[in-house]
Amino acid sequence: MERKHGQVDFYLTLVLSGHGCFRSYLKRFGHDTEESCPECGSGITEDASHVIFDCRRFDEERDELEAIAGTAISVDTLVPLMLADPRTWEAAAEFAAKLIRSLRALERSRREQTG
Ligand SMILES: [Zn+2]
Repeated sequence: MERKHGQVDFYLTLVLSGHGCFRSYLKRFGHDTEESCPECGSGITEDASHVIFDCRRFDEERDELEAIAGTAISVDTLVPLMLADPRTWEAAAEFAAKLIRSLRALERSRREQTG
């Protein structure tokens, strides 16, 4: 099966699997004490779906992705949009990479603060 743009990249795998640096995941494994989104407030769980589709920290990046996809992304539409268009796939992979890098940096600084 030759499907070049269908190769799931490292960051994308992390984002789509819900692992990586999401606080809900970190907390579950004892690496963080809170699971709420530091930007959107308590009561909002920082998981993959929040960060990808809702978190205001990534509004700008999400807008760029949606501009390329030509429509708003949602849990139901993201993967079909990616599979339908290599450019959307690329843009989504880039979006995922930015999210993970940003969350990693935040996690590091939280850890430095608490020692
Ligand atoms: Zn948020």
